[in-house]
Amino acid sequence: MVWQGIPVSRGIALGPAFVYTAFTPVMGERYLENSVTLEKDTAEELSRFNAAVRVAADELTALQQKMAGEDPGKAGIFEAHEDILTDVAIMDEIIALIGEERYAGEYAVETVFEKFAKIFEEMDDDIMKERCADFRDVKNRVLRIFTGAESSQLSEMSEPSVIFAHDLLPSDTAALNRKMALAIVAEIGGNTSHSAILARGYEIPAILGVNRVLSAVKNGTPVIVDALEGLVIIDPPAAESAEYEAKLAAFKQTEAAVKKYRRVESRMEDGGRVGVCLNIGSVSEEELEGAAFTDGVGLFRSEFLFMSGKDLPGENEQYQTYRKAAETWGSREVILRSLDIGGDKTFESLNLPAEDNPFLGCRALRLCFQRTDVFKTQLRAALRASVHGRLALMFPMVGSIEDLHKAKYYLEECREELDYEKIPYNKNMPVGIMIEIPAIALMAELVVKEADFASIGTNDLCQYLMAVDRLNPNVASYYQSYHPAMFKLIRYVAGIFEREGKPLSICGEMGGDPMAVMAFIGMGIKKFSMAASNVAPVKRMITRLCMNKAREISGGLEKLGTAPEIEDYLKKQFESLFAEETEHVFQTN
Ligand code: PEP
Ligand code: MG
Repeated sequence: MVWQGIPVSRGIALGPAFVYTAFTPVMGERYLENSVTLEKDTAEELSRFNAAVRVAADELTALQQKMAGEDPGKAGIFEAHEDILTDVAIMDEIIALIGEERYAGEYAVETVFEKFAKIFEEMDDDIMKERCADFRDVKNRVLRIFTGAESSQLSEMSEPSVIFAHDLLPSDTAALNRKMALAIVAEIGGNTSHSAILARGYEIPAILGVNRVLSAVKNGTPVIVDALEGLVIIDPPAAESAEYEAKLAAFKQTEAAVKKYRRVESRMEDGGRVGVCLNIGSVSEEELEGAAFTDGVGLFRSEFLFMSGKDLPGENEQYQTYRKAAETWGSREVILRSLDIGGDKTFESLNLPAEDNPFLGCRALRLCFQRTDVFKTQLRAALRASVHGRLALMFPMVGSIEDLHKAKYYLEECREELDYEKIPYNKNMPVGIMIEIPAIALMAELVVKEADFASIGTNDLCQYLMAVDRLNPNVASYYQSYHPAMFKLIRYVAGIFEREGKPLSICGEMGGDPMAVMAFIGMGIKKFSMAASNVAPVKRMITRLCMNKAREISGGLEKLGTAPEIEDYLKKQFESLFAEETEHVFQTN
């Protein structure tokens, strides 16, 4: 059985399926019926509750033992969860609600755990505050068992497998053991959804937008994932598996050859330097390894940090994180993007109302202007971290000059607070914006005067320019990054920034696409930020390009009227750069 989807992170994988179903409790107020058998009912409910707690405790012990060898940090989390589960105060209160107030078991569990979670949530101490996530985690575990809901945990994967899911959230991937994830297949999402960004960041092959694929696969079913062509083959015949084993070996060989370029200096054939930076979403060990082969961080998606837990990180925690990134890259710039929650990135504890069109809704800066407490906590943390390394701050989803003024106003308030508190910060920290809403791209003449730098977010720029939801697989063919209007608009912005001598970079997915980068260099853009997996292919291209050729390539685009024509043209130009490539270096099979 062959299924088709959108390949978002290149690679090939063969292995058993692991079907991931997340559990999201939906609890309402519920009581035991007032009947003559009440005593019997409450006794039964209490024994159901006790049984659920026992299963939850067994699960936690097993997870703790499994993690003890692999990841002691995670084992500690499960140990703490066991303590919560067996806490006498919590247990007594639940038992009283069921036995005396006739609460249905699930409702009693929800009420008491939530009460404790809220107590911690409202504490001033950041570390204590964080504990509320643990209470909610334990609550969900008990409720899942109690309600008999089907669910599987990513931390339970015991052999390398292909993960099948409806969608994967950053909080899901926190529990993921990367060595176990051969590939990811999800029913929703597209090239620029958060799950795609994560998969590329972790270099895990991934295919998204495979509509209803979960109905066709079971745990353990052998599958092939061809994330070059976008094919998912379920239960393949032996001959096809053998064919794919050979393809996988060839793919690995090519990748290894290209990967050699990861550590070269990104200099063009005629000597011109082009900045190749990394997009990161955390300060995990894997992400920080990128400092060894990049010129800085062009985009730190700070919201991933917020989404990986269930609670808002406090000022200190954020300060430590931003500081770590800045110190790791040292004298190379790290551009921290302020929160971009909204769109496909939700955040549980902000209790955001559902919107019909979230990408056109209260997202990023718009949300920060509503929740200035959250915004200012982040700005203070960023300012404090700016005395370390070379930190810059960037605002996402700026749609007007007023947006920029307003964001700067809150930043100024934070500066004044820190001055008053005598807390040091870098008074010259560069402050820039993302150009991802077409309206602000058209205002580049003013932006260039008001911002210290800008970075073009091609993912959203394309979505808003083409009027195509970047996640909707039904309209994926209308999401044309190579549409001539994209290049026209970017050329316009690039010309203005070059004339004014202000830094401009590209940090959307096109910034990691060697074919598009060729053309952007020709427009005068000299800095690109991308997922780790794109660094080697982009550097490889740069070493073959000279400025005259780049200008010629970029000029050639102007007479082309459609996206397929542009793709074709860029492909030919790209191949011509490697026409004389020696066979033994880049042999593909
Ligand atoms: C973009 O829109 O291109 C971008 C880099 O931001 P994100 O993908 O996080 O929306
Ligand atoms: Mg964006």
